[in-house]
Amino acid sequence: MKRLPINYGFSSHAIHAGELTDDIYQAHVAPIYQTSTFGFKDVEQGRRQFTGKEKGYIYSRWYNPTVEAIEEKVAALEGMELRQQAPSSRSRQALEGDPCPEVAGLAFSSGMAAISTLLFTLLRPGDTVITHGSLYGGTTKLIEKLLPEIEISHVLVHMNEHEKLAAAIKQVKSPGLIYLETPANPTLDMTDIALVSEIAHAHDLKVAVDNTFATPILQQPLALGADYVVHSTTKYLNGHGTTVGGMVVSRELDFVRNDLWSHKELMGGSPSPFDAWLINQGLKTLALRVERHCANAMAVARWLDQHPKVAYVAYPGLEHFHQHELARRQMKDFGGMVSFELKGGLEAGVTVMDNVFLCTLAVSLGTVDTLIQHPASMTHTNVSSEEREAYGITDGLVRLSVGIEDVEDIIDDLDRALSKI
Ligand code: PLP
Repeated sequence: MKRLPINYGFSSHAIHAGELTDDIYQAHVAPIYQTSTFGFKDVEQGRRQFTGKEKGYIYSRWYNPTVEAIEEKVAALEGMELRQQAPSSRSRQALEGDPCPEVAGLAFSSGMAAISTLLFTLLRPGDTVITHGSLYGGTTKLIEKLLPEIEISHVLVHMNEHEKLAAAIKQVKSPGLIYLETPANPTLDMTDIALVSEIAHAHDLKVAVDNTFATPILQQPLALGADYVVHSTTKYLNGHGTTVGGMVVSRELDFVRNDLWSHKELMGGSPSPFDAWLINQGLKTLALRVERHCANAMAVARWLDQHPKVAYVAYPGLEHFHQHELARRQMKDFGGMVSFELKGGLEAGVTVMDNVFLCTLAVSLGTVDTLIQHPASMTHTNVSSEEREAYGITDGLVRLSVGIEDVEDIIDDLDRALSKI
């Protein structure tokens, strides 16, 4: 498995780190190990592998080379700044074949498999998750509906009010974890990862960050002090909308390779080798794609910002975004997600959705093409408007995952749809 010197750049890692070599035919792109099981040469080899005396592949729910390639790659990307920070890190000189000691990744069959397996591994009955209101809906459901069934509760805190966060940690009987999503779905609200991690660690508490919206190219939570990073690799990391997948990355190697792995093994959220291979293809162009996503999103946000039918635009790159300064400090660029509020509320939202042509009316995000959705009439249609408003999901809110098409065409499409209101 290929490893690069740590001083090599993000794109080089995204393209080469974790790549498998084909010693039989020297295939330039390694074959997909699309197999459920692996044979043993003889009983003795099986015995040695099952007792851990010999490394080998046994069954793809446990380990698979194609899956390991993306675990290595995403760990290399999420760990880059962390390893560069370490002044005498031996991985600075790490060459091909050298172990990558600081960060480990574990791939899952979906973002939700990654998040739920992480939470079930870390938390015990009686624990409380400290989190915030605006999270991906599936994560909210997991925390609010499933975890209470095994007596794990939660409190919602405004993470950027640090006194309140410190007070909440002290008040809660058994705080188990701080769980963040930044930028958050769909409001794009942000959390200061470094500050929250500092407060958490002062109280012996760990921090997990969903880095799906930012991707490791824009934000590396481990270098900012977080303990665990989760991804829905379904989104930007795959980038082409061809798979559902997830990943957990941490510098706690034993935790990832033993505790988390044994939960994954038994809960069964392992990805298929073919999906891992598709994610790997996507990862190779992540840097290029994200650069274009960011540039297009900024142009679309500025255009929407002056549109008479738009009440406000939430985009971390706009100077008036309420956390613009934090975005500048914490992220390298502002991402590809834009949310905006139509003056005409629910009806206007439905009209825009029904009149786009280039943009696809769909949930999910982070694909090369632009996706548009209207939470009030789609993802959150079963949530009362009072409950939605409490999370900032108003009737006229539209969420746009800005793609990498020619930006004039994205704007032209939106212009036509907005003119129908
Ligand atoms: N985290 C975020 C921020 C998401 O947007 C999503 C899905 O939209 C998830 C996690 C869940 O990922 P998946 O759909 O891959 O299970």
